Amino acid sequence: MSSFEQQTAGKAPFALPPLPYPDTALAPVISQNTLGFHHGKHHKAYVDNLNKMVPGTPFADQSLVDIIKNSAGKAEHAGIFNNAAQIWNHTFYWHSLKPNGGGKPTGAVAAKIDSDLGGYDKFKTDLAAAATGQFGSGWAWLVVSGGKLAITRTPNAETPLTKAGTTPLLTIDVWEHAYYLDFQNRRPDYTTALIEKLLNWDFANAQLASAK
Ligand code: ZN
Repeated sequence: MSSFEQQTAGKAPFALPPLPYPDTALAPVISQNTLGFHHGKHHKAYVDNLNKMVPGTPFADQSLVDIIKNSAGKAEHAGIFNNAAQIWNHTFYWHSLKPNGGGKPTGAVAAKIDSDLGGYDKFKTDLAAAATGQFGSGWAWLVVSGGKLAITRTPNAETPLTKAGTTPLLTIDVWEHAYYLDFQNRRPDYTTALIEKLLNWDFANAQLASAK
């Protein structure tokens, strides 16, 4: 089981998973200050909220992934879905980044970016467009769906995890809390910096392998 899978496999009460690197490791692109707030306050708040919400519900005995899938699209469970999905999305985001990452991919993902997405340059343009074009809060994703790579975006807490036959490979958090301290309102600059300097292609390749 990968460290990402281990960090998202448990049941309530959920714990805040540690970052997969020191909180200084992504500087200067993402500062220690941003990681401190984003992980230590925002991500932690979703964990604390969910732990308050699930006792006494049918979700109390379910894994995080099952809670997300079983509450998705149900208005009466919106609070549980939003907090559970934000826990998973954030843990996924931390693993989608690494120090000295970014640039051109390697391995099976590289070949599929060429065959399915028109090559690396087009991938970069299209992922940046998905991230900057998401109105308000949300997420941009590289996924494999039905055996083909695709770029997608989701609003608020929504996640491609709930789509049948779809496995997320990488994500970029475009909630303002992800970039405001370092980039203020310049979401395009944040997005470009992540694509060029931080994307974790090893993680994307491991996710792709797990989808087969
Ligand atoms: Zn976030």
